[in-house]
Amino acid sequence: HAKSQGRNNYQFYRRDLNAKASRRLLMESALRMALERDELELYYQPQYNLLDRSIVGCEALLRWKHDGQFISPAEFIPLAEDSGLILSIGDWVLEEGCRQGAEWLKQGFDLPCVAINVSPVQFREGFFETVMDILERTGFPASHLELELTESTLMNDVNRAQQLLSSFRAIGVRTALDDFGTGYSSLAYLKKFSLDKLKIDRAFIDGLPDDSDDNAITASILDVARHLSLETIAEGVETEAQLNFLGAYGCDQVQGFYFSKPLTSQDFVRLLHKVH
Ligand code: C2E
Ligand code: MG
Ligand code: MG
Ligand code: MG
Repeated sequence: HAKSQGRNNYQFYRRDLNAKASRRLLMESALRMALERDELELYYQPQYNLLDRSIVGCEALLRWKHDGQFISPAEFIPLAEDSGLILSIGDWVLEEGCRQGAEWLKQGFDLPCVAINVSPVQFREGFFETVMDILERTGFPASHLELELTESTLMNDVNRAQQLLSSFRAIGVRTALDDFGTGYSSLAYLKKFSLDKLKIDRAFIDGLPDDSDDNAITASILDVARHLSLETIAEGVETEAQLNFLGAYGCDQVQGFYFSKPLTSQDFVRLLHKVH
């Protein structure tokens, strides 16, 4: 019995793997066509100054609407990275974010910053030139663009990362270290990289203010950032209690469902109208 059961489990496992593999293949070919079919859209989540609660920027978050359903970036970004599609998708995200940012400025909204997520696959030779081209084409000021990079993106090739970061610093493009605390970069590297901002990962914000470990980690990150003159933003803020903790420890900015979910560009403009 044990033997036949084992075989059944194995067959079940095989079937499960096959299902996963074919879903991946299907998704990959669908993603290949998503750009030309106009199925990609950017949503914008406002970022707030913690002290006066003014909107100081937004993060562009990619959405893929396929066959009437939204597929999560957590699912399709890894696929896009494995297949190389992330290069054309990433270019589209950058251009669309900058185009939108420029349009808002033209409409008279003084939105200081649009933050764009950058995949490790994009962050290599030629990326600086790509960003320069897009800024020129869209007329979006370099000083209003922020690139969100992860620790693994920077640690992949430390020398190249240092060079790219200095190049961006030189033209005034801002850089933020996304999901900070979840990767493995060492603190020693923080001072070598020309970064502007640390973005504390939601994993730590989640536990505030009841989890003493998350409290300690968050307070330490804010302390390090202050000493290194880095700006700070907390992501995934959902409650007043989290906000109060972050305020007490001097976090500069906040972003999360407590304030707003990511919004379509139309809804984001409505929000800007309300507060201006
Ligand atoms: P991320 O950059 O850390 O983005 C934050 C994620 O947290 C977003 O999920 C956002 O919708 C979600 N979030 C924001 N506030 C809250 C909150 O208060 N509570 C909770 N539970 N969640 C909140 P999303 O949009 O599903 O994106 C997931 C990840 O996909 C992003 O993580 C980013 O790594 C990646 N991603 C999204 N757009 C792009 C893109 O254009 N390019 C690249 N390379 N990656 C992207
Ligand atoms: Mg991000
Ligand atoms: Mg993040
Ligand atoms: Mg995150």
